[in-house]
This record gives sequence, C-alpha cells and structure tokens, in this order.
Amino acid sequence: DNNKASATTADIQALDAEHHLHPFTNTGALNKKGARVITKGEGVYLWDSEGNKIIDGMAGLWCVNMGYGRKELVEAANTQMNQLAYYNTFFQTTHTPVAELAREIASVTPGDLNHIFFANSGSEAIDTIIRLVRQYWAIKGKPYRNILISRENAYHGSTVGGTSLGGMSGMHKQGAPLVPNIERIRQPYWYGEAGDMSEEEFGIACAKALEEKILEVGPDNVAAFVGEPIQGAGGVIVPPANYWAEIQKICQKYDILLAADEVICGFGRTGSWFGSETLGITPDIISMAKGLSSGYLPIAAVAVGDRISNALIEHDDDFNHGYTYSGHPVSAAVAIANIRLMKEENIVDYVANDIGPYFQQKLRDTLGEHPLVGHIEGVGLVAGIALVKDKATKELFPDDLDIGMICRDHCFNNGLIMRAVGSRMVLSPPLVISRDEVDELIEKARLCFDLTL
Ligand code: PLP
Repeated sequence: DNNKASATTADIQALDAEHHLHPFTNTGALNKKGARVITKGEGVYLWDSEGNKIIDGMAGLWCVNMGYGRKELVEAANTQMNQLAYYNTFFQTTHTPVAELAREIASVTPGDLNHIFFANSGSEAIDTIIRLVRQYWAIKGKPYRNILISRENAYHGSTVGGTSLGGMSGMHKQGAPLVPNIERIRQPYWYGEAGDMSEEEFGIACAKALEEKILEVGPDNVAAFVGEPIQGAGGVIVPPANYWAEIQKICQKYDILLAADEVICGFGRTGSWFGSETLGITPDIISMAKGLSSGYLPIAAVAVGDRISNALIEHDDDFNHGYTYSGHPVSAAVAIANIRLMKEENIVDYVANDIGPYFQQKLRDTLGEHPLVGHIEGVGLVAGIALVKDKATKELFPDDLDIGMICRDHCFNNGLIMRAVGSRMVLSPPLVISRDEVDELIEKARLCFDLTL
C-alpha cells in the first residue's frame, strides 16, 4: 500500500517542518526537502517510513553500542518505571538504581575512579567537570587555579560550558561570549598537520604545546587539562602513540588535573572499557554518557579518583551543582542492565580481539587504495577516513565542493549511515556488529566512495 505509506511520510514531514527546530541543522533548507522519518531499529539496522533498510555505521550518534531493540534494556526501564518512575538524589535521599549504578560504573572505570556524579548528557558531564575541578582547587585554598586547557578541534558538547571548552571555531561564533579562563592548544592530528615531522616527533611537539601553554599562563593558575582520548566528532583523530604519556608527565610535573572526556571512547568503543586504557592514560577524572545506556535513555556521569572525592567529602559544605534528573532511576536502571549485558556478552573483549581488528583490517583492505582515500585511522570500532584530491600530496578538495557531504549523501541514499566531518568520513558502528555486517557496511561504503568520485 505504497500510497498510504508515502502519505504518512509526507504528513510527518509537514508536521516536522511546521513545528520542529532541528539541532545542528539548517532547518529552512531541510524543510524544503523534508526530513527522513526513521521508524524502527533492530540490531545494527534502521528502517525509514518508506520501508528502506539502512545499516547504521554510526550507532546513532556514537551511542547505540549494544544495538537497537534490546529487550533486556526495555524490560529494565519498564520494571523501574512501575516501581519508582522518579525521585531526586538532592535532599538526603537516594534509591537503589542510582546506588547500584554507581557501583557498576566503579567496577569498570580505571584506577581509583570510584566516585560517581550523575548528569543527563555529555555536555552536562563536561559542565560538571568545569565546575568540579574549579571547586577542587578552591577547597584546596587555591581558587586562582581556575584555567582549563583543552585542544583545537575538540568536541566537548553544546551547553555554554561544553561549547567554551570545545575547540571547534564554528561552535564559538554562536551564543558567544564563552566561559572565561579556558585556553586551547593544538590538536595531535598527525596526518593533517605534522608536515615533515615523524609521528613520534609530532607526538612530542603536540604534548610540548601543553607545557608551553602552562608556562605562558602560569602553572599556578591551571586547574586541569581536558581531552578526548581519541577525538571523535573532530573527525576520529588518533594521536601518535607517545602523545598521551608525554601529556601525562607534563600534568604531573605541574600538578594539573588530567580529565579524559570519554563520552565517545567509553564503554568498549576502542576495545577497552574506557579509551584511557587503550591510549595509556591514567586520568584523575572522566566524563561518560552515550554508551553508558547505549543511548536508550539520557544519562551521563563523571567519575573521579580519591584525590578529588576525598576533597569533596572532607570539605564540610555543599557542592552546589546538579540536575533535577541527576541519577534518574529509570535511566540508571537501563544503564545497569546495559553494563551487565556488556559483561555477559563479553563485548569489550569482542571489540578488542575479534570484531575491532577485523573491522580495521577490512577497512584498509577495501578502501586503503581507493583514489579518494588519503589515510585511514582508528582503533576498535571507531575510524576516520581522510578524503583527498591527491593521495601523494594530500591535497584536499576545495571547501566549496564539500566532498564529505557529497559522500555522506550517497551513503544516506544507499542504505548506509556514515558521517562527514569536513573532508573526513567517520564510522562508529554498534559494538554488536557481526563480521557479515562489517562486510556489508564496508562494501556499501566502497560503492558510495565510487559514486562520490
Ligand atoms: N564530549 C564528547 C567527547 C562528545 O563526543 C560529545 C557528544 O558527541 C559530548 C561531550 C556532548 O555530549 P551530549 O551531546 O550528550 O551533550
């Protein structure tokens, strides 16, 4: 009954155009063509209202790690909603799901990161980090230590705090001015920005930029350095192998807190519970969201080590920060079920030792020689592919051609969700993807790269 199906699609598109302001979208332009209506998800697949089946190479927005349609997660939400749909954790109260989730998270975080503060989104977790590290130094009698250092082209969310900490210039123009006392250093994008430097030299140079910045603003004024273990939304940029160890040394030398933004890298994406383990980072504080609940409900968290938790707990005053839905019981119940499911299915091991290496190899075997592809980087189930006009010189296509968007649209129209970040194509499929599904995804990508040529 095709007519009926298309009428329904048109109706929804009309409603959407009339009333919905889309995030990160030119809504006027979208309204002219109509948004695609997604109706169903199962495993690694989505369906739209026209019945098209789409393989989701992005796990939603890097979040549906355990795949769509998991009954265990639906059941956990249903049970908890019937038991206690909401209660806060502000005023001398707690509840079972939030207490159990804090323990579950502590069971998978690295080192001594055993105390958990809850929020609802990655951006709120980042705002929490900004306030928490400043509060930490204030408690320590050094309120002047309030500068946070992050990196160019970092993505740390879309609240005013997250936007300010992030390093994407496009984000800074909207809703300025930014939060003060944030400084940025260069990103460790070896393929794109190293010139003639070897990967090792470049890793050291990028880390040294942190030390230079610390000395420029005065070590006694710096609260923390914040970075994604692997930059995600910036285009999946894997730093040189020596980079994080050097950053870590510099933070230790000047007694600066090290925060890892694990919103994408957390929960198995790189083949460890957290990207910090894969990249060899020992952070004082980490943010997490997305994969924490596989995106089934909004929930985020900040985990801190003893150094910070002891300071907060011993300080005899309130930490005046939190959200109505901090530790929401239904989201917490889903996150608990999600972590348990990940453990039962050994999903982290599957990514590290089976599907991750398979995916990375297959990508390189299938697309490495493609005339559009300059470079492929990635770990586990996250990858970035640089599109170039000239492989030998790394020359890029002109900006106004917008090669990434052309490629992305071919994917979108051919049953594959792949994102473009400028001229980089990125992939981050659900962690439960099978080898056959990886083959299908990468074969589709090759077809779409051919169409883009
Ligand atoms: N931090 C990182 C590293 C992210 O990738 C994102 C979102 O993509 C955020 C923070 C913001 O998370 P949210 O969109 O849930 O606010």
